[in-house]
Amino acid sequence: MSDKPIYVTEPYLPPLEEFIPYLEQIWESKRLTNNGPFHKQLEDALCEYLGVEHLALFANGTIALVTALQTLRISGEVITTPYSFVATAHSLVWNNIKPVFVDIDPETCNLDPDKIEAAITPQTTAILPVHCYGNPCAVERIEQIADTYGLKVIYDAAHAFGVGYKGESLLKHGDLSVLSFHATKVFNTFEGGAIVCPDAKTKQRVDYLKNFGFADEVTVTATGINGKMNEFQAALGLLQLKHVDKAIERRKEIDARYRQALCDVKGITLLSQQNGTVGNYAYFPIFVEDDYPTSRDELYGKMKAAGVYGRRYFYPLISDMPMYRGLPSAADYNLKSARQAAEQVICLPIYPGLGDEQIDAVALFIAGAHQ
Ligand SMILES: *Cc1c(COP(=O)(O)O)cnc(C)c1O
Repeated sequence: MSDKPIYVTEPYLPPLEEFIPYLEQIWESKRLTNNGPFHKQLEDALCEYLGVEHLALFANGTIALVTALQTLRISGEVITTPYSFVATAHSLVWNNIKPVFVDIDPETCNLDPDKIEAAITPQTTAILPVHCYGNPCAVERIEQIADTYGLKVIYDAAHAFGVGYKGESLLKHGDLSVLSFHATKVFNTFEGGAIVCPDAKTKQRVDYLKNFGFADEVTVTATGINGKMNEFQAALGLLQLKHVDKAIERRKEIDARYRQALCDVKGITLLSQQNGTVGNYAYFPIFVEDDYPTSRDELYGKMKAAGVYGRRYFYPLISDMPMYRGLPSAADYNLKSARQAAEQVICLPIYPGLGDEQIDAVALFIAGAHQ
């Protein structure tokens, strides 16, 4: 269908010449890492862009997740979703915490708030939901449950860069929110991440923890890790930020074009954006139902053969992976909606560099031209 393969995403890179002045500054100052000038500037710029008060940069999103759990001293059991990238559950296990999987709401692919309470035990200390595909979780319901049972809430907001909800940043919800700036995400610093904190005191603890626990030259306050973002990443982030609105705008057009072309295709369902959301159009999932002419995997295979590399985000479920499948909460009957989504989903290519002809070709292929 296309001369060149079309991948699910293509990292966004700014024009190279725009990055040179940043590099020259790093070479001149020889400040490479450890809270350098670009690091400080990017923290401030991101707070302003995202509409949050405090944020701590990280080398990647996974270290940020692991550190977020350390920050709030989470232990015992944590309620989370099986329908995510493995790092969500792995971050719990790295903290010696037992993940307890709860099913998703098929309308949003996020944790089903109606099913959370039944999974709470005396060992439960927190909820780790994911704003899957950048769609907001049921944040009010989750907050209410957390307050009732005295639980912390840490959002894996790796998909939710720049998402607005009811007039403010979605990242303001929960005790902490964790972002990823990995190459495949809406905003990237090659690798990178951040923890959004509610107050300066919490950010202070996060800053200690990401720097081995150092409070000053001779004082180590905690068994911290090395999670620091370096100056190269921070400089790139500053430059990327200048382009991100344009990039999200193009994603929005692509989303609309796919929707237009696919909304009436028999056997294909789409997720709809919830009221009150300003989206970032990070992903475009389609769900291949039983009344589509082929199975999901057949369609996936045919697309691949035609040079269109969709991805089955998220298949397999985290709870089906060898290190999790023995958990009682990983049982099949507990996760019916998650399993159905995992068996039906294909995420279509969406990234700023995708052309209209490519979008139309992908949509036409799915609409039946391949049969
Ligand atoms: C990308 C991602 C992560 C991990 O982020 P990295 O920056 O790649 O470490 C965690 N959770 C989810 C849901 C992700 O999509």
